[in-house]
Amino acid sequence: MPKCELCEKKVKTTYKCTECGTRFCEKCGEKERNVCEDCIDYANGAMGQYKPDQKVEIEIDTD
Ligand SMILES: [Zn+2]
Ligand SMILES: [Zn+2]
Repeated sequence: MPKCELCEKKVKTTYKCTECGTRFCEKCGEKERNVCEDCIDYANGAMGQYKPDQKVEIEIDTD
């Protein structure tokens, strides 16, 4: 029986994440997109906010 690499439970079916290759169960990711929970979180974080150690140039209009 395949095992989910995220929750470590034995499940009927696992899906392989196209981002990191992790095999995950249907509860640990989006099987429709073949992306595991970790990669969904990463994608959301990357889109939603800047990393603190990342230098971001911001132009400020000083009128
Ligand atoms: Zn799982
Ligand atoms: Zn992944």
